Amino acid sequence: MNTERRLSRGARIVLASHNQGKLAEFRALLADSGIEIVSAGELGLPEPDETGETFEDNARIKALAAARAADLPALADDSGFCVTALDGQPGVYSARWGGPDKDFAKAMARVNHQLGGHADRSAAFVAVLCLAWPDGETRCVEGRVEGDVAWPPRGAHGHGYDPIFLPEGSTRTFAEMAADEKNAISHRGRALERFLAECVTSP
Ligand code: IMP
Repeated sequence: MNTERRLSRGARIVLASHNQGKLAEFRALLADSGIEIVSAGELGLPEPDETGETFEDNARIKALAAARAADLPALADDSGFCVTALDGQPGVYSARWGGPDKDFAKAMARVNHQLGGHADRSAAFVAVLCLAWPDGETRCVEGRVEGDVAWPPRGAHGHGYDPIFLPEGSTRTFAEMAADEKNAISHRGRALERFLAECVTSP
């Protein structure tokens, strides 16, 4: 693997997602990098099945499919909530634990139920970003934030499992933090910092 291969500032890339919220989030986060983002949704690219067993597998599947279909470098992310005492579950199945209705109140209750009275309530949010080139080369970076499972859920911000995640050193859950405050320490924020440092040419 050529670790020196980087995106130049001003490059045009595909974001391998059909999610408008993610598109807006990545456009905002990459605004200063000069990178222009077009989404897989805007290009009408098909969405591959996320059949991988790790975040890296799934991010790579999505990035490679988009890079090959669009003939442009492509960026994909995959993320989830990993509870130590549940052997890392829900992990890559985090979105699926919310069911077809994306009912995360139910998914959070399932986490709490399965944890029962376990003494170890540690958990982490993990995000992997993968950059793929049309010739098949890929580069993945990971960001994680460690913490504990809180119960009952607290806070009205954020999404998914935020109301039951207490990041290390904080007395507030992710859902009790403003978006800026969460982004500064979040798994996605950290993965993006590494992506900018390792995959994009310096200004
Ligand atoms: P993805 O969009 O395939 O990466 O799905 C990630 C899933 O993991 C989401 O549906 C959420 O359930 C969970 N998740 C990932 N990041 C976060 C976060 O920052 N807060 C809460 N839940 C998250």
